[in-house]
Amino acid sequence: MKQNKRSVAYFSMEYGLAPEMRIYAGGLGILAGDILKGARDQGFPLVGVGILWRQGYTKQVIDDEGRPVDCYPRNDYIYEHVEDTGVEVTVEVKEEEVSCRVWRLDKYDNAPLYLLDANVEGNSNRWITGQLYGWFEEERVAQEIVLGIGGVKALRELGLEPDIYHFNEGHAVLAVTEMIKEKVDRGKSFNEALKSTRDEIVFTTHTPVKQGNEVHAHKLLRYIGAYNHLTREQMKTIGGDPFNMTAAGLRVSRVSNGVSRLHAKTARRMWEDVDQRSEIKAITNGIHRKTWVDKDVRQGRDDVEEIWRTHRRLKKRLIDYVAREKGVEFDEEKLLIGFARRAVPYKRAGLIFSQEERIRPYLEEGRLQIVFSGKAHPLDDVGKGIITKLVRKSEEYPDAVTFLEDYGMETGKLLTQGSDVWLNNPRKPMEASGTSGMKAAMNGVLNLSVLDGWWPEACQHGENGWAIGSGYTGEGQDEHDANSLYDVLLNQVMPTYYEDKGKWKEMMAESVKSTYDQFSVKSLLKEYYRELYAY
Ligand SMILES: *Cc1c(COP(=O)(O)O)cnc(C)c1O
Repeated sequence: MKQNKRSVAYFSMEYGLAPEMRIYAGGLGILAGDILKGARDQGFPLVGVGILWRQGYTKQVIDDEGRPVDCYPRNDYIYEHVEDTGVEVTVEVKEEEVSCRVWRLDKYDNAPLYLLDANVEGNSNRWITGQLYGWFEEERVAQEIVLGIGGVKALRELGLEPDIYHFNEGHAVLAVTEMIKEKVDRGKSFNEALKSTRDEIVFTTHTPVKQGNEVHAHKLLRYIGAYNHLTREQMKTIGGDPFNMTAAGLRVSRVSNGVSRLHAKTARRMWEDVDQRSEIKAITNGIHRKTWVDKDVRQGRDDVEEIWRTHRRLKKRLIDYVAREKGVEFDEEKLLIGFARRAVPYKRAGLIFSQEERIRPYLEEGRLQIVFSGKAHPLDDVGKGIITKLVRKSEEYPDAVTFLEDYGMETGKLLTQGSDVWLNNPRKPMEASGTSGMKAAMNGVLNLSVLDGWWPEACQHGENGWAIGSGYTGEGQDEHDANSLYDVLLNQVMPTYYEDKGKWKEMMAESVKSTYDQFSVKSLLKEYYRELYAY
């Protein structure tokens, strides 16, 4: 059976495979890492293509004034984790040749990941793979040339001719120029080449915000070398004018997907004007359980008391970590809420403080404890301001509120395994999927979340977690959601936790049970093969 599976090359700018492999930034990369692990577990013929970043995403710490400060430790150690394939490919950036060495990484029980690296002796452009999402537009395009065009060349040199090229977001879309060029070199016309290339490409879109999607001027693309022998008219056919990476992904793919049912709906509406775009299916993300769900929960998930015992241990581990890192002593007996997100306004990290008087007494008594974490984009002062506000709250309530620095796989795991409640309150419909909520749910950490992203597909209010609000999205949404948050937290979550432990434990077990299979990366891959890869 498995031999008949389509072979797939999965392209992603970032991969979250292990905390020490700092070649990821957030959810997009975590998904990619989980997919490689899931593919390996199941023996699927899938390989990853990515970049070996010399510096990963920001390591963000808080200074004495409560402001986030970015630093970029060099990933020199990273070479200890990868093997040299002996393959080197060349791409052209600003009419200069750039050599890229190809490394192989498979030590995290993952399907083989091929990583391109421009940090090669003799390259004048060694900076290109210097920093994940670093610097500005020109550098980004150069990185995308390496990932897309270099990625296809690397596959060829490695002797790989996959059936399917899956682009995780628009970053790899320039691969299409190389795939077309190969066919044109063999005598096909551009139109024929585009048509048969389209049969090979699958595209996943993530960003439900139009401004969050990447757009480049043609002048810039041509000057940097992204045209790769295609003409301006041909590039316009693919990406429009200006060149939109997401629209291009939708046009050059046979089929595409959004990352939850709700997000697919949003994406269809968002991109309805894109002519000749592929169908956007809904395939909800999933997580790699062995990575994110504690072993004792996995093994004891049919036993309510075992889940509870394990949870107590994981909560203690989180509390100990907080004590070590922040010098704050949380109380194991008291309710602990976890919240970790990118710091952007629509995630509304401060919603729980929007009518502060309603929760102040509980914070002062310590009946409510909150651990926040998250990073702001290094160039985003608004996002940094959000973090500073959270840090201020931790100073106001030193025994009940804290902020953990440098949110990453390690802190993510501690939080989604050790909190009692996982709070998620973005402004709808902005959350694409929200895999952290899945991690929490499968560890018996109860979701308290607006009905956005994946949560409408899983939420049974009062049984496996709670919904905030009714899904209302009109004027006054913030106030509507805040009122609902306080109402559910104070009248349902807290009374259940403090007065009805039996019910609480049953909800935890139900949370694990109701999400365990449906939101695993194993199910995700099954759907990818059925809905995206089969033809
Ligand atoms: C799981 C995870 C994410 C994705 O979480 P969202 O729910 O999409 O916010 C992001 N960053 C880290 C470090 C994670 O572990």
